[in-house]
Amino acid sequence: MPIYEYQASGERNCPHCKERFEVFQSMSAAPLKKCPECGASVQRVFSATAIHGAGSTADVLSNKNLAAKGFTKYQKAGDGHYEKVAGDKGPQVIKK
Ligand SMILES: [Zn+2]
Repeated sequence: MPIYEYQASGERNCPHCKERFEVFQSMSAAPLKKCPECGASVQRVFSATAIHGAGSTADVLSNKNLAAKGFTKYQKAGDGHYEKVAGDKGPQVIKK
């Protein structure tokens, strides 16, 4: 289930919604309009976690996501030997 981030959109807020807070919601759920703590208007913040439905930086920086964004990533696989783990540019293996 994706995590959505919300933040108070107006002047009124409480410690809960003053900073962004995260809510687990199904993809089909309607976005929250009010802070569950104080009832202030809140707006959904489109963050990396919301877009990727992941919830951690590790997923945003995952090999699959890096490849999708056009990055190429090599991982050290031995002494002077690097293997491509993401992306479609460059050689599969680099040896120094
Ligand atoms: Zn609040």
